[in-house]
Amino acid sequence: MARKAEWEKLKERSLKKFGEESVFGEGSLSSLLVVVGEAPGKHEVEEGRPFVGNAGKLLDELLKEAGIDRSKIYVTNVVKVRPTKESGGSPTNRPPRAGEIKEGMGLLKEEFDLIEPRALALLGSTPAKALIKKSFTLKAEHGTPFDTEFGMPALATYHPAYLLRLKGVGSEDYDRMRQQVVEDLRAAWEHAQGSHDE
Ligand code: URA
Repeated sequence: MARKAEWEKLKERSLKKFGEESVFGEGSLSSLLVVVGEAPGKHEVEEGRPFVGNAGKLLDELLKEAGIDRSKIYVTNVVKVRPTKESGGSPTNRPPRAGEIKEGMGLLKEEFDLIEPRALALLGSTPAKALIKKSFTLKAEHGTPFDTEFGMPALATYHPAYLLRLKGVGSEDYDRMRQQVVEDLRAAWEHAQGSHDE
């Protein structure tokens, strides 16, 4: 079966399993790099697409600065359903639970099997802990390639939502951290293209 048709079937299965408000991955099905986030937020659920809210807009900028055209890669999340908690009568985001992460991993692996990327770029500690190792720490290990059980290396970096929080509190670390994320994304892209230093 053609890749597109297989992807449509996978997306349909995901929507059936996780509900019509879930958000599946999207992008080039022949991408050398797959970018993996944590879980969709409010805007992603509204549009039914990953990384389209404020964090997504920043991700687009960071990718561009790293020399990566978003339309040429595939972007997805570990968890396909927005994890929420009630706060003041309206739902707000919360970190995904271990069971939700475990449930998301099955379909995520099928996305990798279909696309067969050469490298993964993981945004934030949720995908890094789920795909690399439980003890992963961004501070010490961001930008470092790790072998994964999925058959391709993964490099993790800070989540764009974290950069937005730094910016929001006027942190003097913002510019440095932002640049670090651009460099990590560039390293992941070079890895995917096979032009990294061995
Ligand atoms: N944050 C994520 O981790 N994924 C999205 O799709 C949006 C925000």
